[in-house]
Amino acid sequence: MARDATGHADERIDTSLQHIGQAPLDPVTGAGPVALPSIRTSTVRFASMDKLDQAQAAKQRGERAPTYGRVGLETHAALETLLCRLEDGERAFLAPSGMAAISMALMAYLSQGDHALVADCVYGPVRYFHQTILSRMGIAMDFVRPDLASLQAALRPETRVLYLESPGSLLMEMLDLPTLSRWAHDHGLVVIVDNTWGSGYIYQPLTLGADISVLAATKYIGGHSDLMLGAAVTRDPVLIAKLHETHYALGNTVSADDAWLALRGARTLGLRMRGCADNALTVCQWLAVQPQVSHIFFPAWAQDAGHALWQRDARGSNGLLAVAVDFNNAQVRRVIDALHLFGIGYSWGGYESLVTQVEPAALASHGYWAQTASARMQAGTVLRLHIGLEDPADLIDDLRQAFAAAT
Ligand SMILES: *Cc1c(COP(=O)(O)O)cnc(C)c1O
Repeated sequence: MARDATGHADERIDTSLQHIGQAPLDPVTGAGPVALPSIRTSTVRFASMDKLDQAQAAKQRGERAPTYGRVGLETHAALETLLCRLEDGERAFLAPSGMAAISMALMAYLSQGDHALVADCVYGPVRYFHQTILSRMGIAMDFVRPDLASLQAALRPETRVLYLESPGSLLMEMLDLPTLSRWAHDHGLVVIVDNTWGSGYIYQPLTLGADISVLAATKYIGGHSDLMLGAAVTRDPVLIAKLHETHYALGNTVSADDAWLALRGARTLGLRMRGCADNALTVCQWLAVQPQVSHIFFPAWAQDAGHALWQRDARGSNGLLAVAVDFNNAQVRRVIDALHLFGIGYSWGGYESLVTQVEPAALASHGYWAQTASARMQAGTVLRLHIGLEDPADLIDDLRQAFAAAT
């Protein structure tokens, strides 16, 4: 760790996750709680007009100086510090969901007439944001293969942003972030990366060359499927200023209780990610020898096309994977319905296992699918599994009986 934005940069991440945001001790009694309370407020009160003026001036300079409740007080500040430590950033801006963090980051930098290059493997709702809002504001986006030849071919004089996600949504495609970032910077682009998968713990886009890392704390940081929250993190002073004003102008705010839940979740982020990753690997070992399984999309799996990049750039794995199976549509619905331990639902990153079918239309929009899918895979279906913290032997038993129910 070369940087020291949080005051915790000289210790290991698992230590920081326990110590950032401790409650202060009462100066008189010398006592206090371990966990910082949820400090709820709609506004901020000041001891004097001078103190209020000082806070206003600091806010104008772009500093974190709350003059009103929307920015949040100590609970929010502790979470921001923790996210900066995770992502190796200088400032974190909180948003009410991961999607709100994505839209805030894009709106902070893009103006009318601008163009953004977007990897075709990104989280699907980014396309919806473009269709519904950005296009109406005269901002163009092209969704392209995240390789240098495709990006170069789609580059325009007005291109300002390269927006990526690694590994990509649905098929876990690892991207070469250092190479893509270098190319983008050579062309004057700002690189924004969705880091929900890595959550700063196992992957750090800012250290790999990105300018803004956005994430849904809804997933692994919250970790208990009871919270919606997002953040955009950066270390670039120009981008800090742009996010500072955009965050405030858009009215993005997070409840103190939600910031508190995210802080609480983050204490066990490492344990949970490692637990889910170990279980997912165990489930992959079973999946790999099933006759109905044609392919496993999981960067930590040695046969995954992105395994070498994962080994080079990531510090761990998690429980999210996709698996191509030979079942037709009717069979796969029977398999999913037959699962007892896997909830049927979107999302991931909680303590529990979940399953969904990856929509064929979504696969079709991911060029990686066209690139990797064999005829056998094309004829089948793709399941998305989030492997949680249950005993993996039970998860495998559940999958076994469900696979049997297909036929
Ligand atoms: C879930 C998710 C988001 C959006 O997060 P919300 O908090 O649900 O808005 C963004 N990116 C990725 C990769 C996600 O999986």
